[in-house]
Amino acid sequence: MADILDDESAMLRACELASCCEPVDRAFNVGAVLTSAAGEVLATGFSRELEGNTHAEECCFIKLEKEGRLAEARGGTMFSSMEPCSVRLSGKRPCTDRCLEAGVARVVLAIEEPANFVTCEGVARLRAGGLTVVRWEDERCAAMAAAANAHLAAEPAGTPAPAVAPASREAPAAGPDAAPGAAASAGTE
Ligand SMILES: [Zn+2]
Repeated sequence: MADILDDESAMLRACELASCCEPVDRAFNVGAVLTSAAGEVLATGFSRELEGNTHAEECCFIKLEKEGRLAEARGGTMFSSMEPCSVRLSGKRPCTDRCLEAGVARVVLAIEEPANFVTCEGVARLRAGGLTVVRWEDERCAAMAAAANAHLAAEPAGTPAPAVAPASREAPAAGPDAAPGAAASAGTE
């Protein structure tokens, strides 16, 4: 029998799931719980839980789809520790689109997507699609959702990451004791 969760419990579960993610350099850690209109848990997910650099919300939909139960998401609620993405650098289908297509009625989120990688318009697009979007005002959830992404804290907000890392840009050892040969080879790219 599936769990019936109230909003608070579902949101908490989503935020807990965010801490299950394996941190990687260039992606957020997010947890998600998808419930039916009656509050029954249909699926849960977290970032990269499934193969293929998957997102938390995406994992929920993939699992439900595999069981042939995607229709049960209609009228339901997606609880996510972070605003569903509206654009993916990989070109994969954004979670916002998946929520719209599945007929989810409501999205409840703990925090907005920080602008580390792209400008997220998830909330705006969901609302434009007729969904109710609720920012869950709970300090504990917000703190959990943010803490799951502590590995990205060093990324300057709004600065797009360079497409190619300047791997050979290591500063040559400065000072008089640097070998002349090393200085020459580390010079131009
Ligand atoms: Zn996503």
